[in-house]
Amino acid sequence: MMRWLLMSLVCFLSVHAEADTHDGQLEKVVIQLDWKHQYEFAAFYAAKAQGYYQQAGLEVEIREGGPGIEVTAEVVSQRANFGVNTSGILVDRANGQPVIALAALMQHSPVSLLALRSKGLNSVHDLANKPIAVDAHNRDEIEAYLIASGLPKKSIQLVTQTDWTMNALHSGVNAAKVVYSINEVFLIRGHEHEYLLLSPRSSGIDLFGNILFTSEHELAQRTRVVKAFKEATLKGLSYSLAYPEEITDLILSQYNTQHKSREHLLFEAAQIKELTRPDIVEPGYMSLGRWQHVADVYAAQGKVPQYFELNDFIISEQSSRLSPWSIVAMIVLTLALFISWVVLAHTRRLNKRLASHVVEQKLAKEALRASELRYRTLVEEDVLTHIPNRRWFYDYLTEILRNRHEDGLYAVLFIDLDQFKMLNDVYGHDMGDQLLLQVSTRLSHFVSERCRIARFGGDEFVVLLEHLSPFRAQAETEARFIAENIRVSILAPYDLGHVEYHATASIGIALCGGHIESIETVLKHADVAMYQAKANGRNGVCVFDPSMQVMLERRAEMEKALRIAIDANQMVLHYQPQADRAGRIIALEALVRWQHPMFGLMPPVEFIGLAEETGLIVPLGEQLLAQACRQLYLWQQYPESAHLSLSVNISAHQFHHDGFVEMVTKTVMNSQIHASGLMLEITESLLLHNVEDVIANMERLGQLGIRFSIDDFGTGYSSLAYLKRLPLNELKIDRSFVSDLNVDDNASAICDTFIRLARVLGLEVVAEGVENVTEYDTLIAQGCDRIQGFWISRPVPADQIDQLLNIKRDQITQES
Ligand code: C2E
Ligand code: CA
Ligand code: CA
Repeated sequence: MMRWLLMSLVCFLSVHAEADTHDGQLEKVVIQLDWKHQYEFAAFYAAKAQGYYQQAGLEVEIREGGPGIEVTAEVVSQRANFGVNTSGILVDRANGQPVIALAALMQHSPVSLLALRSKGLNSVHDLANKPIAVDAHNRDEIEAYLIASGLPKKSIQLVTQTDWTMNALHSGVNAAKVVYSINEVFLIRGHEHEYLLLSPRSSGIDLFGNILFTSEHELAQRTRVVKAFKEATLKGLSYSLAYPEEITDLILSQYNTQHKSREHLLFEAAQIKELTRPDIVEPGYMSLGRWQHVADVYAAQGKVPQYFELNDFIISEQSSRLSPWSIVAMIVLTLALFISWVVLAHTRRLNKRLASHVVEQKLAKEALRASELRYRTLVEEDVLTHIPNRRWFYDYLTEILRNRHEDGLYAVLFIDLDQFKMLNDVYGHDMGDQLLLQVSTRLSHFVSERCRIARFGGDEFVVLLEHLSPFRAQAETEARFIAENIRVSILAPYDLGHVEYHATASIGIALCGGHIESIETVLKHADVAMYQAKANGRNGVCVFDPSMQVMLERRAEMEKALRIAIDANQMVLHYQPQADRAGRIIALEALVRWQHPMFGLMPPVEFIGLAEETGLIVPLGEQLLAQACRQLYLWQQYPESAHLSLSVNISAHQFHHDGFVEMVTKTVMNSQIHASGLMLEITESLLLHNVEDVIANMERLGQLGIRFSIDDFGTGYSSLAYLKRLPLNELKIDRSFVSDLNVDDNASAICDTFIRLARVLGLEVVAEGVENVTEYDTLIAQGCDRIQGFWISRPVPADQIDQLLNIKRDQITQES
């Protein structure tokens, strides 16, 4: 009976989900790849195999590319609807081809050059006047790189590649050949030292990798199809990045026309992940700034006009057009630049006239400087460490940037001690001060003509490196070298009285000087890179990279969008049923989704973290609680649903926020619910601070009848002693233990222990994330009270819960 109920539930929901997605006929779509099948195009294979295209109402044919196939021509002539091409698609656009870029399938280009060192080739400069084999679609990128590396244009000899194997290099016909770092590099493993591998990124040429594009015609005629195809492909991309093994198997069985080995495909997958960085950039994202960089690169070669109009070429919902404010800001900036230019010109003229007085003035100035210096040491010195402070650093850097004459680059290093706060908290501030003093002494050893240090405050130090190489790649290597030395010097133990202390530091590097940057920008970049070094696991060095900037821009955009979403009520709740041991639905968990006007329904993982960091979780949580209570009130009016308990997730940040108890009380009162139907899900992270306050607040809410569940149980830090003291009603076994039930014997023992523990503490126990019958049976056999998971139902909108419970829609007055 129970199994039957579950099966019919599952059938009902899957049929319902299908009906939502498309109505009958699938639309035919052809995607033209720019090379033969390989992992590079995994997004398409994954989207097809996972049924994303079908769900979007599309029947997709994936057409292999290769020599002689011009992808742009295929798409423009409408033999294909979509294509994949390099950033060179922009050049096609500039040449009048009506192409539109939809998404960046790789944030960074894998295009590189490979040469044999045995032929006397040891740097990019050795390639002057020698034949270099390229393909039509990467020719521009390679040329841009060679020019940026300082090769005169007439010394560059590009020839069309005809042999794509490694033999082409050994035969010696060409000095170098274009390769894809994701592919050919696999073939030289173990022999890397014999080769010279050159990446355009080392000269600051950082183009996108694969671009998904379509034609203006297609976009105008089938807007829905274009949007649906792009979205499904990006879902496929995320999938292919997350499950390389599975997609490799898929390629081996269906697409392996190049007969690549499993190992080779997995290598490609790993390289592509590096160039896509799904951990910091949303797959597919195209920032206008990066496209501007692409346009600048091609403009420098004369391949696209200066100031090429990008807006009509990029159809990315994320691309932000210039707001009226930024236009005003640009006008103001231009005016300011003009005025400074006039002033500068005037000053120059004056200077000329005053030339004769210079010598006298210089003497006077020096006298002044001597007295000034004394003054400086007071206001520009750090009180604790006696090294220069932030103010000095600003003045000094301003001066240098203003008087720059030479080509050399600069680097700013941002140094932050790891876990310094903990030292202060555990051993006290005196100890912290001692450490800072010793660190600054060690840093002082690095001070020279080219290297200045300053303390910015707290545990932050800044280093300025001057006179680096004018070539970015070289300058970066130099800066990294010094940063590494600094990092290592910080590692040696510190004698802090009776404690031997070990410290580590995270260092971020930003290069500057290539063009005029503001000090704020340079410092911000170094700071961002430092955060990246921390995110990479601390005790490391990280150089600023534009994709980090993309991440920052994206974050700022998201935060803005999130504020708007909360005000515009775009946050909706879905409800996931929990079944009791007899298979009856007796409770629901409310889970938020963002009904985004452009991206559709977005899951909470994409925004809850940001909402917590920015504090937006407070207004959002309040809004969601009100929404949940209104829905619970409706359900409490009908006999079929009056018994339901509704769980609402509460973030620790929200719980700790002043006025939380009052907010909940007011919301519960206003909605007129029976508070016993409301359960708040809290997590163990709540117990990290002020446990006494947490208990007191829970007790106050408990007096209203509200119940509490401890969510994600087993993943946090809670000690049993605390757990016993918390006024809890329910324990929720985390999904990770449930999903291990099929693979790991320990998981079964752990679930069993949790269930027994819940019994001892007098708590009800729910298992979440139950996805199949084995997990279900195991947990029921172990005595679990309630089951939540896809096996019962996915989270669905409230009206689907009504249908599940057989509540007639018209009986209920839906929320307005
Ligand atoms: P959570 O509280 O652990 O919620 C359970 C998550 O597991 C939900 O993800 C749910 O869709 C998913 N899930 C349920 N059954 C299964 C299953 O059988 N298999 C798998 N693989 N997953 C299953 P969702 O909705 O994406 O929510 C993610 C997290 O976002 C939640 O984790 C919760 O921490 C947070 N969240 C969701 N809604 C809210 C909210 O209203 N407020 C706050 N503060 N956080 C929320
Ligand atoms: Ca939860
Ligand atoms: Ca959970």
